[in-house]
Amino acid sequence: MGVNLYVHFPFCRRKCAYCALHSRPGVSAADRAGYVAALVERVRQLGSCVDGLATVYFGGGTPVLCDLSPLLNALAPKLLPDAEFTVELHPLDVAPDLLSRLRDGGVNRISMGVQSLEDDVLSAMGRGYSADDAERAFCLVRKTFDNAGIDLIVGYPGERDDWAALLPRLSDWGLSHCSVYALQNERGLKNVADDDTVLSRLAAAASRLRDLGLERYEISNYAVPGRECRHNMAVWRGEDYFGLGEGAHGRLGLLRTIDYLGPSAATETVTPAADWAERRLFRLRTREGLDVSRLGGELPRAWATALAKRVQEGLLVQDGTVYRLTERGTEVCDSILADFV
Ligand code: SF4
Repeated sequence: MGVNLYVHFPFCRRKCAYCALHSRPGVSAADRAGYVAALVERVRQLGSCVDGLATVYFGGGTPVLCDLSPLLNALAPKLLPDAEFTVELHPLDVAPDLLSRLRDGGVNRISMGVQSLEDDVLSAMGRGYSADDAERAFCLVRKTFDNAGIDLIVGYPGERDDWAALLPRLSDWGLSHCSVYALQNERGLKNVADDDTVLSRLAAAASRLRDLGLERYEISNYAVPGRECRHNMAVWRGEDYFGLGEGAHGRLGLLRTIDYLGPSAATETVTPAADWAERRLFRLRTREGLDVSRLGGELPRAWATALAKRVQEGLLVQDGTVYRLTERGTEVCDSILADFV
């Protein structure tokens, strides 16, 4: 098993209307270059701890607002031969030379934030491109990367009533991955879609993506078989991961880290019991489910009771020693997971 690394880039062209992520616009080129230099220094400090990288994920923010070359060079010798290396892209940044530089730097997977297929909604979000622009950008991405996907948001104010009618548009994109998220209305937007509408749109997306050969492997994630995001799967399966960059979280043994690129990361030590539970709980989010015969410890009585209750309610299905979410269970997953905390 190799090492997993997440790197956060908190810079954006401008702040999208719905976004509560750790990101900010208007940072100078010099400061962005300084940020990358600090990341390179962090990699140097970690030394052999980050040798043998199995997955790397550059997220944000908008990573490519920085010149990534120094960091790509620092990480290249540490990548395992079959490492998965993902970079998040904004459609406005997609250009052939950038894509070539990323590929030559070891990147082999792209996640592009499209968010909506409606021009009015994209405009209200402040994304700065049309659905046609996004499609053209993704077409360019696919010319360089065969492992590429998009993110969509469901429930934004102003979405058309027949939202699902937009989905056939994706047929020609050649998606190997798609993430579909219900809007988390952390910025207090008005007139967001109600829960039933969101659920029916999520179901329509699941159906359409299945028709395109993308299977649901986690509550919000769909992929062509073999193109599941290995980095995120490693996190959901409970593996360790390093987090570098402002506000990036890591999990290393009992340590939970938050990096601020200062002399050292903030750390918290969790109890062995909390660690054990955290590393197993999120398997329930995935298609693999929770296999209670492979917990590496005894099934806590409270977990056994919660699993049995949710099976009875039709929210989980039991297949031998494995518990998985049902369709209905995926809709209320957070409340199910809360039983186990
Ligand atoms: S580009 Fe992404 S990270 Fe930046 S403000 Fe928009 S949604 Fe947030």
